[in-house]
Amino acid sequence: MLKEKDSQMTRESDASIKYCPQCGSQALTWPSPKHFTCADCGFVLYLNIAAAVAVIIECQGKILLGVRRYEPKKGMLDLPGGFVDPAETAEQAVCRELKEELAIELYDELRYLFSFPNKYRYRGIEYDTLDLIYLVRLNKFPQFTAGDDLAEALWVDRNALDYQKIGFDSLRQALRRYLEVSPVPEK
Ligand SMILES: [Zn+2]
Repeated sequence: MLKEKDSQMTRESDASIKYCPQCGSQALTWPSPKHFTCADCGFVLYLNIAAAVAVIIECQGKILLGVRRYEPKKGMLDLPGGFVDPAETAEQAVCRELKEELAIELYDELRYLFSFPNKYRYRGIEYDTLDLIYLVRLNKFPQFTAGDDLAEALWVDRNALDYQKIGFDSLRQALRRYLEVSPVPEK
């Protein structure tokens, strides 16, 4: 019986959910890869994607990249950003994350670019996210102090990005797409 249920599990993360959160039963079935039901108590849970934001901050041909302080992808490069909190707009999330991670306040210059799906594995559970990518283009280098999830932050020439060092696929794709379509800013 369990075997049959196992075969219905299609997501990698499904294996980490073994018990019904409501009654503790193991009689879980997965009618689709994104939701499960409990045969004993009728509990249903949809594993919806999480919204996240990331910001490309560009100044004089350089892009501000953070170095991740924590797992996943500790030590790898990242764009400033993070998960959107409940009841928060994506724009509010951007402003909050920029304050938390870089201590900079940018409200006026924010522009939405595009989105990419991502997978974020944290302590054995893989979360599906949708990363909303925003752009801030500045003429003057802002003061910043890296903190929170970022160990440090550094300016990298837009023509010298090492994509192998960027932690997440979605952000690699976002930076590639952005650099393809955006002109080099005027000096
Ligand atoms: Zn149950």
